[in-house]
Amino acid sequence: AGSGKFFVGGNWKCNGTKDSITKLVSDLNSAKLESDVDVVVSPPFVYLDMVSSSLTDRIKVSAQNSWIGKGGAFTGEISVEQLKDIGCKWVIHGHSERRHIIGEDDQFIGKKAAYALNEGLGVIACIGELLEEREAGKTFDVCFRQLKAFADVVPSWDNVVIAYEPVWAIGTGKVATPQQAQEVHVAVRIWLKKNVSEEVASKTRIIYGGSVNGSNCGELAKQEDIDGFLVGGASLKGPEFATIVNSVT
Ligand code: PEP
Repeated sequence: AGSGKFFVGGNWKCNGTKDSITKLVSDLNSAKLESDVDVVVSPPFVYLDMVSSSLTDRIKVSAQNSWIGKGGAFTGEISVEQLKDIGCKWVIHGHSERRHIIGEDDQFIGKKAAYALNEGLGVIACIGELLEEREAGKTFDVCFRQLKAFADVVPSWDNVVIAYEPVWAIGTGKVATPQQAQEVHVAVRIWLKKNVSEEVASKTRIIYGGSVNGSNCGELAKQEDIDGFLVGGASLKGPEFATIVNSVT
């Protein structure tokens, strides 16, 4: 892990029912979590309020999306103001499922991130290459392009956590090796140094996501530029998620 406070997010995606989420919250409330770690979970919108009011204050709540501006006549959308109203502190933007399944582009993602940051939410800004992009030697080009779209619009990096999530590793059980992850993390840090500032490069947390679980988190957490994790599947199991949180070195 790097010098920033370790950060572990659980992205529940479009999973769960009232029953399963009540059980997960109760497991998280009784889990022993290392104190020096920021812990965030991201339930589906419909359960956000329920989780936010039943979960221990030790764990913060994140949304999986937010609208590009103030609320109003935008059917099906959820505004940043509404998220703040129910105690939500973070939002995920740029997740590969939204980029590649829903079709969100860099500019749209940038707008949503900028609005959320301007209104005081923290943003988990996701970047990552497809398998064919990695195989074509374009990993850095893709990650830097996605990063630039955030850099062009964010008012400040204070409340941004960057999540490097190679798309081929998400939900596939195919985790990046610690070396593959570290290689991109350090490249992202150098990019920030050159294109933003030395301070932002050293302070901004860069977390890894893609099939992280209770068994592989330890080796990944040892890498110098891995400041935490964004966890999908394994975040649906309270005890395993706690193991990942506690992998801080
Ligand atoms: C994610 O959705 O951000 C993710 C990393 O998923 P998984 O851990 O299931 O690969």
